[in-house]
Amino acid sequence: MHKSELMRGEKVKSKTKTKTKTEENISREDKKILNIKKKLESQRVTLLAEAGETIIGTLSPEKLTFPDLGDQATAESDRSFLLRLRGREQKLLKKIENAIEKIDSGTYGVCETCGEKISIKRLEARPVTTLCIECKTKQEEEEKLRE
Ligand SMILES: [Zn+2]
Repeated sequence: MHKSELMRGEKVKSKTKTKTKTEENISREDKKILNIKKKLESQRVTLLAEAGETIIGTLSPEKLTFPDLGDQATAESDRSFLLRLRGREQKLLKKIENAIEKIDSGTYGVCETCGEKISIKRLEARPVTTLCIECKTKQEEEEKLRE
């Protein structure tokens, strides 16, 4: 498949993806993506709750608010908040946020490196992925070389 064709297809598709669409007119794949979104959101809540427990002893109560991490205006407080999360959780949370954002904007499931569609099976198995299996394999090989 030509890359340009695929990109065009994605654009057209993303236009039809709105939050107002009803159950009847969404495809099976969209339903799966909505399920993935639900999973991501509950994972996010769990992570934030765990982070809250972790930092509860070190912060004064008025600082224990959970900022909306998707909001640009709170980027600075997000950052200090995220700094308190352990590295692995922090990375995962960021990935979850990105995935949810992409689902909302209709760009979810497109490989960030090559622009190809990521298979729904892969997305279900690993919802936060931003790369197709081919690019991910390549990236992992490169990471191994750096270590
Ligand atoms: Zn790719």
